[in-house]
Amino acid sequence: MKYYLVIDEGTTSVRAIAYDLSGNVLAISQKEYNQIFPKPGYVEQDISKIIAALNYSVRNILAKLGNDIISIGIANQRETTVIFKKDAKPIYNAISWQCRRTNYLCEKLKKQGLTKTIKEKTGLLIDPYFSATKIYWLLHNVPHALDMANKGELLFGTIDTYLMYYLSAGKIFKTDITNASRTMLYNIYEKKWDKELLDMFDVPLSILPEVCPSKHLFGYTDKNSIFKKEIPIMGIAGDQQAALFGHLCVNVGDTKITYGTGCFILTNLGKQVKDTNPDLITTIGVMYDETIDYVAEGSVFYGGSLIKWLRDSLGLITTAKESESCALMVEDSLGVYIVPAFTGLGAPYWDSNARGIITGITSGVNRNHLVRASLEAIAYQVNDVLNLIKEKFDLNNIFVDGGASVNDFLMQFQADILNLELNRPDNIERTSLGIYYLLALANNTALKD
Ligand code: ADP
Repeated sequence: MKYYLVIDEGTTSVRAIAYDLSGNVLAISQKEYNQIFPKPGYVEQDISKIIAALNYSVRNILAKLGNDIISIGIANQRETTVIFKKDAKPIYNAISWQCRRTNYLCEKLKKQGLTKTIKEKTGLLIDPYFSATKIYWLLHNVPHALDMANKGELLFGTIDTYLMYYLSAGKIFKTDITNASRTMLYNIYEKKWDKELLDMFDVPLSILPEVCPSKHLFGYTDKNSIFKKEIPIMGIAGDQQAALFGHLCVNVGDTKITYGTGCFILTNLGKQVKDTNPDLITTIGVMYDETIDYVAEGSVFYGGSLIKWLRDSLGLITTAKESESCALMVEDSLGVYIVPAFTGLGAPYWDSNARGIITGITSGVNRNHLVRASLEAIAYQVNDVLNLIKEKFDLNNIFVDGGASVNDFLMQFQADILNLELNRPDNIERTSLGIYYLLALANNTALKD
């Protein structure tokens, strides 16, 4: 059977999703992997665990459907940084997008007055979230790394790049423009790696992958890969941009909110760059034709993971789903408010040093109030970002997706405080759907050619 294969490589799991030619899901296989927390604020990932999860989920799909795959696409967690040798061996664990270890470096850059320059070139704010300072840290802390990089012996990739390199046995060393736009080294207006920024971060150009459109023939899997044949890789995008495209938010003002581990609010700004608020970032949307859509983005670092924390660390609930019935058991949070700044605050506050707060506790407060306050905290954070976007741009349709978007209480509370209508599609798998659209478009183009 002919099918498209989408690999959704997330922060805590890898999913392989098979789509038929009409966009129906034929099969899904998922494998979770653990992150590594060496000390407070530090988050790493073991690349071999990601590869094992990839192989596990792909193998299940191949066992079920065979390997008559038309093309492969990848959506990936963004910014997470790997530096590896030409034999694909990483020199260190991947440094996660959530890792705050380079905060000291960001503070230094801000003190040097570089905020404006970096925003004007990359659309980004100076924050440990983005790849540049993670690359700097790796090159300056792993013994001999800088030397090896300067000798052309090392390569940098976000996870899309690493997976393509791995699957092609080193023949593909590329990334797509959505991923490049999250590195803080890519000039999103000139559409190239920025020489001044490379010098600033001590990054040799030779370690950087070639930047391609999201819909593109990146290359082929190797005959000896898990697929046992050469299959074209035709679509790559960072997960949040993939989800925006998966909702078909291709018109100016179209917006999506993803409620996953974090919450990501993206609004399509169209082809013309508009000056966004200094507390928001400008990034690049999925490049499915020759042109570029710019996108305003606000990222909330702690979203659904607050509910996971209630479940796994506090034991207040046994399933994430239970949070909804708990919240509905009380009329309000009884004055309890939670600021989930476990790893600092993202948009619109961008405060790396902030830490979590629970306030307003009185003797009448029970677990249901705490659970309700947690769900409300997710909505308040999204509200802060969306209000900023709303001040600047006219919003069109707003779509929601992500694991926590199935929570009716959360969605209603969110719509109420925003005073806006939210559209929740039946199928909330928008990330992989966005990549399926890229593969289907690429296939149509190939057929026409
Ligand atoms: P990611 O892709 O970022 O790993 P998902 O989109 O799979 O995340 O969403 C998982 C997150 O959603 C978890 O942090 C979980 O706590 C939260 N979640 C899942 N179901 C619910 C629910 N019914 N109510 C609230 N939160 C939920």
